[in-house]
Amino acid sequence: MSRFFSSKYNKLTPYTPGEQPRERQFIKLNTNESPFEPTEHMKQAASQAASRLQLYPDPECKKLNKIAAEHFGIGSDEILFTNGSDEILNFAFMAFCDCEHPAVFPDITYGFYPVFAQLNGIPYETVPLKDEFTIDVEDYIGINKNIFIANPNAPTGIALSVNDIERIVASNRDNIVVIDEAYVDFGAESCVPLIKKYDNIIVTQTFSKSRSAAGARLGFGIACKELIADLNTVKYSTNPYNINGLTMALGIAAFEDDAKIKENCRIIAHNRENTAARLKKLGFSCTASSTNFIFAKHSSLSGMYIYEKLRENGILVRHFSSDKIGDYNRITVGNSEQMDILVKTLKSITEENL
Ligand SMILES: *Cc1c(COP(=O)(O)O)cnc(C)c1O
Repeated sequence: MSRFFSSKYNKLTPYTPGEQPRERQFIKLNTNESPFEPTEHMKQAASQAASRLQLYPDPECKKLNKIAAEHFGIGSDEILFTNGSDEILNFAFMAFCDCEHPAVFPDITYGFYPVFAQLNGIPYETVPLKDEFTIDVEDYIGINKNIFIANPNAPTGIALSVNDIERIVASNRDNIVVIDEAYVDFGAESCVPLIKKYDNIIVTQTFSKSRSAAGARLGFGIACKELIADLNTVKYSTNPYNINGLTMALGIAAFEDDAKIKENCRIIAHNRENTAARLKKLGFSCTASSTNFIFAKHSSLSGMYIYEKLRENGILVRHFSSDKIGDYNRITVGNSEQMDILVKTLKSITEENL
């Protein structure tokens, strides 16, 4: 740390992204990327947009907003695109939270929420998950703080119903509820329809998981137009051109190719169920995941041991060292070839230790 670093930030512990190794070819099942490349149409749209890179991109993202609004059946003033959904999440912390409006989220959830709170000097509380890693809706009824919930939750993969979320939203009308739907396309119900009924919910989604575009950095938030206007105030005060031209073109093409993207999600959900069933036969237990990852623990081998053994064998998964979930690994669901190699490798690891 230099002697110039502001005291505002010098106690900040930044978010640790999953490894992106370049030195060796791993089967990468550690950051929940899609095993599918972007569609041909998406790739072409992005490369054609390269000939306009001398110009600033449209700061209002008009065309992208329009096609997205049609897709979700909302107004184009009810959506805001950002540089990944991490940016819209940060904007929500910046726009709506402060010392009088602290934040609350589960103790086990997306690791970026506490970082955004700390970055913006926002006090926050965490609510423990129940023993089976589920969120107890009752804990959030009338809690009177700004609530951040990943639904499905990460890294557990477990989803709440829209009814349950509606109860949370309805009981906290003087606070905002942010529902982070990074994984919703793999089998959970979206809360987008609730934005018509409640002026205190923001739903965020991303192109990084279901839409095969983690590298393009595109996410968005959907909410009533007053909340979107506030988020726009933050956007125009930080980075009006937060979506570059290549990404904008690719995003439009992704909505045009929605049928293909939905088909990819179905394949992943199928591979997930199939792989979880095979892991159970090897002595693993898995949470009921509605996502593109499996959260698995072995009956006798430690989470760290399995992580290291897989790594030695060229397979990268995500292990979190925190006490409560240290026995588990989060394994991204890949294509069937990758899943066959994963299961085969885990079979020999478990057999070696019989
Ligand atoms: C991956 C992820 C995000 C955001 O990813 P971006 O690439 O920034 O869109 C947000 N929330 C959760 C829970 C995630 O897993």
